[in-house]
Amino acid sequence: MPAPGLLAARWITGSRPGQGAPTAGARDDAGQAGGRNEKLMETPGRREVSPETMAAQALGEVDPESGGLAPVISPSTNFEQLPDGSYRQSRVYTRADNPTYEHAERLLAALEGAGCACALFASGMAAATAVFQSLLPGDHVLVSRVLYWGVRKWLAEFALTWGLDVEFTDTSDLAALASAFRPGRTRLLWVETPANPMWEITDLAAVCDLAHGAGARVAVDNTVATPVLTRPFEHGADLVVHSATKYLNGHGDVLAGAVLTARPDPFWERIRSWRRNAGAVPGPFEAWLLQRGMRTLFLRVRRSCETALAIATHFRDHPALAAVLYPGLAAHPGHEVAARQMSGGFGGMLSIRLAGGPGHATEVLRAVRVFKRATSLGGVESLIEHRAVTEGPSSPVPGDLLRLSIGIEAAADLVADLDAALRAAGRTRPAPPPPAGQEVTP
Ligand code: PLP
Repeated sequence: MPAPGLLAARWITGSRPGQGAPTAGARDDAGQAGGRNEKLMETPGRREVSPETMAAQALGEVDPESGGLAPVISPSTNFEQLPDGSYRQSRVYTRADNPTYEHAERLLAALEGAGCACALFASGMAAATAVFQSLLPGDHVLVSRVLYWGVRKWLAEFALTWGLDVEFTDTSDLAALASAFRPGRTRLLWVETPANPMWEITDLAAVCDLAHGAGARVAVDNTVATPVLTRPFEHGADLVVHSATKYLNGHGDVLAGAVLTARPDPFWERIRSWRRNAGAVPGPFEAWLLQRGMRTLFLRVRRSCETALAIATHFRDHPALAAVLYPGLAAHPGHEVAARQMSGGFGGMLSIRLAGGPGHATEVLRAVRVFKRATSLGGVESLIEHRAVTEGPSSPVPGDLLRLSIGIEAAADLVADLDAALRAAGRTRPAPPPPAGQEVTP
């Protein structure tokens, strides 16, 4: 795959190859505003900068009023109309657009690359559901069989009742997927890779070829890989979706989501219209915190990957474990595709399955000291979670599985903590797992 190397300046401005860059402060046809000050990317004759540099400097934009390197927050919900009826920068109301969203959107678009455009949402679920709700009743949708529980639950509860024909399929099995498309009826293929919580891998280039051959779009939930490891547009994806609550922000203090498109087309306009009309926007403060979080994205993701690999390798033959699920291990069924498709690491997420069953999983959960018992993923702290319990009685996740989100702590502390917890659990009689059935499913 193309390495995430140097990026062209056009990627930052949201313009497409051959279309030229929008002027600063103006909007392109995807509704994005141009940057306030894009010196970092636009100095003629200078070497183009890498995604890491763009992230670290949040595109290098400097506030034109004060010269401040940290951007100002625009909390205003509304913008002044001029006597001639126009608006200074075409912005009217923050439910539609806000300068602070647009800075984070430009940054994320630059990281995902390929001239894409981005819209922030109030949460990852608001972003995901905006894509599905922009389809029409009767449309056929193919969805990865293994995927984040909240999306599956929403599809089951809401999408089916208003007529979306949703079919779950194994997107890691290309032959099965090929036969699942219904040409002329399948409008969308929804893929998550690595997929929660078994970390199955889907070959993005292969599924995009199949989907495009059948006339369907491909949306990739890139929450777990992040653009540090995988840039789905480079593999042919049409849409990329994020829970920005996770790695993009990375500090467990922002709920946000994003949808990105490879090209501004009528479907993208419907997604933007959904956001505006449904009010599925984040607050400006969340958008500001998100741009700050993304500045350290590369450091955090790389560190999490290194530690996750070290933990997976250390525990893969542990006698208390029936399995360690991590795409970085050669034994993982998706390892070969992951090695091709992910660059610089295999992600910070892994799961372990306890040989002693669900009761032992509960004991390990109780015994950890450094790992925090909490849901969610992608933050600086390492988290451990009994996924089946969080997801409730209809969860397909095995009861012996614990999901680990690896943070940026010292790897040795995490290994020692898990080692001690596995030893302690081995000495106790397994307790029954806590009752399942909570409704919150991050
Ligand atoms: N996608 C994935 C892969 C997730 O893990 C999550 C949440 O855990 C979401 C989407 C939903 O994101 P949010 O909790 O920000 O609504």
